[in-house]
Amino acid sequence: MIRPLLAIILSAFGSQAPAADRPNVIFIMSDDHAAHAISAYGSRVNQTPNIDRLGRDGMQLDNVFVTNSICTPSRAAILTGQYSHLNGVPVFNRFDSSRLTVAKLLQEAGYHTGMIGKWHLGSDPAGFDHWEILPGQGAYADPVFYTADGETKYTGRYVTDVITDLAIDFLKSRPKDKPFFLMVHHKAPHRPWEPDAPHRAQFAGRWIPEPETLWDSYATRTDALHENQQRVADDLTRRDLKLEPPSGLSDAERTQWLADEPATVTITRDGQAVALTGEALARWKYQRYMQDYLATIQSVDDNVGRLLALLDTSGLARNTIVVYTSDQGFFLGDHGLFDKRFMYEESLRMPFLVRWPGVIAPGTRSDAIALNVDFAPTFLEAAGVAVPAGMQGRSLLPILRGRAPADWRTSMYYRYYHDPGDHNTRAHYGVRTRTHKLIYFWKKDQWELFDLVHDPSELHNLYGQPGHEELTRTLKAELARLKAAVHDEDQFANEQPPSGVDGTVAKLRGK
Ligand code: CA
Repeated sequence: MIRPLLAIILSAFGSQAPAADRPNVIFIMSDDHAAHAISAYGSRVNQTPNIDRLGRDGMQLDNVFVTNSICTPSRAAILTGQYSHLNGVPVFNRFDSSRLTVAKLLQEAGYHTGMIGKWHLGSDPAGFDHWEILPGQGAYADPVFYTADGETKYTGRYVTDVITDLAIDFLKSRPKDKPFFLMVHHKAPHRPWEPDAPHRAQFAGRWIPEPETLWDSYATRTDALHENQQRVADDLTRRDLKLEPPSGLSDAERTQWLADEPATVTITRDGQAVALTGEALARWKYQRYMQDYLATIQSVDDNVGRLLALLDTSGLARNTIVVYTSDQGFFLGDHGLFDKRFMYEESLRMPFLVRWPGVIAPGTRSDAIALNVDFAPTFLEAAGVAVPAGMQGRSLLPILRGRAPADWRTSMYYRYYHDPGDHNTRAHYGVRTRTHKLIYFWKKDQWELFDLVHDPSELHNLYGQPGHEELTRTLKAELARLKAAVHDEDQFANEQPPSGVDGTVAKLRGK
């Protein structure tokens, strides 16, 4: 926390800044980057010195949560400051670009606005003076980018490097008489986790520590975990594992071979061919998955460093807010999983590091409960723009200034709709307080209750266990209160994911 006198000085600096000195904003967001793969958050699996720097120079928030843990819905929630049931994107729907967004409001307020990288909302970006986006999920190698005028293929280039180059071009070519708002949204580290050659080499053969819950048996949990298909042991494909197809296959055979989830893999160890199955194979798959996942993150970290260096040398650092976050969390073998969607901690928590020289005291941390719908109000308040009443989030600026309001939220509401989707993950909603979590799988009428203080890994479902009746009643009441407060009237309770697979949006020309 900030010392009182310093807080007063910093507060005065922030609130009395003249309009002409409105801060620039660089909003860096990666895709599926779990907080526990960032060293500032205590990662056991990698080091991210450049991302960490934002926390050292500013604030690290430890309890930022996504309201619907999946890519497109989280992006819509961030832009609109609204939950999925109000912003119209509960699953992979196309975002209605006529809706009010933080980008439009900042543009109207005189900001020069830019969007570079992964957009994944199914409609062209609106509210941006300049945009260059990946079509759908985009490609790691030789990526194509769309603009309002056409498309460009970057042959021989790696996507994370190109996004950073385009962001730097935006900064250099922007009108200098306006503040700017720039979204730098990386594709990495989204599946299929394809690193560039230098980072692949950096992680090749590196042994990654296994999470404590890799072998979670799901005892005491409901059907949802048993039925899910995002397991490291069973649901990684040969493409995910970067296995080489045998020669002589037709194109169709090759595609099918790569899409299969192998129950046996033969590797070469000490010059001998070894066929892996069962537990040994699951451990090997975890290593292959994590080596590639972390290698793509290392490129993101390098490129964050490159962008921060430019801010330093150009003098822009002084009056620019820089945020690093991800569209949701991710399972790094936790509970035996490799995706997101579930309301469990690893998927629910978003990393959030933010720097604003002269306003946010360096090296500070906050455990306040913040949400992805808070980002838009935060950027707006920082820019001196009124937050529209329809936005459901709340500006984080008081927290960033070290003065959390007395009435700040102590619980949050979550809802996931995409059922069954690619991973057969059951729809659910729930409440997380500072100490407990209650999850309701409504299509199954099944509940899970966790004590996050004594069981932070969420292994022991207390729902229906003797002695927890009063706690259950209290949490159900809080869940009902929050559900009503955010106006969730089950608008999309029976929503089905778009036909096809999760890549549906990616196949559209318009992204
Ligand atoms: Ca994502």
